[in-house]
Amino acid sequence: MAERTEASRTCSVVGCGKDVERSLGFKKVEESGLDIGEDVGRKAGLCKEHYKEYKKLTKKDRVLESIGR
Ligand SMILES: [Zn+2]
Repeated sequence: MAERTEASRTCSVVGCGKDVERSLGFKKVEESGLDIGEDVGRKAGLCKEHYKEYKKLTKKDRVLESIGR
């Protein structure tokens, strides 16, 4: 094992732990409904799968918003 960078190298979603594909603002991810547990800093890392889920969740939010109007 080489150097350990920040803890943000693995997915921030609780119980996941896969390699990070995208880094997103912690709050944004939290608001999307994904369970990323405690604040890990300014950024939350998401693996490929959870990034997909995040996009789905935020998309849904947007749709619901437009329906509500
Ligand atoms: Zn993940």
